[in-house]
Amino acid sequence: MKTKTKHKQIENIAHCDKLTKLIDRQEFLEHIKQRLIISAKNEYQSGLLFIDLDDFKQINNSFGLSFGDELLKQVSECLRSVVCTEKLSFKMSPQTFELNLARLGGDKFAIFIHKLKSSEDTIRIAQNIIFELKKGFLIANKSINISASIGIAIYPKNSSTTPNALLQMADVAMYHAKANGRGLCYVYSSTMSKKMRRHHYLVEEMRLALASNSFTLSYQPIVNVNSLEINYFEALIRWQHPIEGHISPSEFIPIAEDSNLILELGDWILDEACRQMASWYNAGMKETRISVNVSGIQLKHRCLHPWVIAAINKFDLPAKSLMIEITESCFVDASPELILQLEKLRNEGVKIAIDDFGTGFSSLSLLATLPVDVLKIDQLFIAQAIQNNKYNKILRSIVNMASQLDFKIVVEGIEQVEQYELIKLLGVSYIQGYFIDPPLQSHYVEKKLLQRYTELHT
Ligand code: C2E
Ligand code: CA
Ligand code: CA
Repeated sequence: MKTKTKHKQIENIAHCDKLTKLIDRQEFLEHIKQRLIISAKNEYQSGLLFIDLDDFKQINNSFGLSFGDELLKQVSECLRSVVCTEKLSFKMSPQTFELNLARLGGDKFAIFIHKLKSSEDTIRIAQNIIFELKKGFLIANKSINISASIGIAIYPKNSSTTPNALLQMADVAMYHAKANGRGLCYVYSSTMSKKMRRHHYLVEEMRLALASNSFTLSYQPIVNVNSLEINYFEALIRWQHPIEGHISPSEFIPIAEDSNLILELGDWILDEACRQMASWYNAGMKETRISVNVSGIQLKHRCLHPWVIAAINKFDLPAKSLMIEITESCFVDASPELILQLEKLRNEGVKIAIDDFGTGFSSLSLLATLPVDVLKIDQLFIAQAIQNNKYNKILRSIVNMASQLDFKIVVEGIEQVEQYELIKLLGVSYIQGYFIDPPLQSHYVEKKLLQRYTELHT
């Protein structure tokens, strides 16, 4: 018996993480396997918590690896004490390792709860862990605040039989917690898996589509309310998938942003828009311009001024023929560097628009200082303004404020004649929407609109 315990101890050490002295993934899975057999026999409900620190990479990058290591050690201690106070501990003997707590690798930890009173208990424990971690740590005289995202899987509710499947479900739930804002906990459900599979599938398909040049751009005119003359075109990405058919950018752009594929995709979009506009410019459309959507992730990774200037130079496009659309939410925490980049672009003639205005909670005082030419009022407002007097009033006050600040105003999403009439009444100058034209393929723009455009200008 004595040699058996000793043997187990040695085995544990072989499967222990040297830094934190917690058991590793392999040992943890082996332990859960044994425990789940007991759970099945006794009809216990068990739970698994998958804990992932938020932005740990950033801490490592800013303070160095040994700082990061020290943090992981302290986090392990914190988790150890939660396991103790919550009475979740399981050890072969007081000298051996804690088997219900593991470091899975990197900044990922897991806790196994063998016998649950109720599934809600897991949420309470997860919230307690988040609370304890949020209290902060002191490392090398620096106080550091962190948060964690936690995914929870419940046995047998999630109908999983293997420890690996249980861990995977908790992992999926953890990703869901990350995607929904971090510092949160989520219990796994099968819809999460579907979402996750779709996410991974679309990332792979987007890579293929990029490699095979399968994306296209459509162009939606923005017109003068009174003359209906085209002022500019917004470039909107289109994806005709060989099996799925049309996939909406509202679905794939957020996934491209999550996976950073938006960088490669965004490079292609800017190039393609500039190429197209240069070709229209050379064909005589000298007064119009093209507007390109740029996402917040691109702003973080691309140095805006040189990036945009390189693209227009590549196609010999005058700077005045390009506009950049940035959503209002990006301006809320815009860095001074970003503002500088925008100012430089504007000085060279590139126009800047705030997109989806009214949804991003920017302050009015901020608005007055931004280097921006165009304000695009989100379609939400016009969609509600006819039936809902409150939205009507908000729309009116946004229009008044924007014209006081000398912005050019575009109202997005005009679909009906009543909406068009209301906009006219409010004194808005420019509109975009299906009432005028949907986003159009380039050949359609060339055939129909170029004709109309040249008629008006000759
Ligand atoms: P957004 O920038 O606000 O683009 C306007 C969206 O409204 C487009 O949807 C357009 O087709 C749609 N729209 C235009 N007129 C009407 C109308 O009268 N009624 C309604 N209900 N909708 C109208 P789309 O093309 O599906 O794009 C959705 C979103 O995806 C865009 O919203 C933008 O955030 C993103 N997106 C599209 N293309 C690109 C791109 O090239 N780059 C980036 N970063 N994002 C893009
Ligand atoms: Ca836009
Ligand atoms: Ca918009």
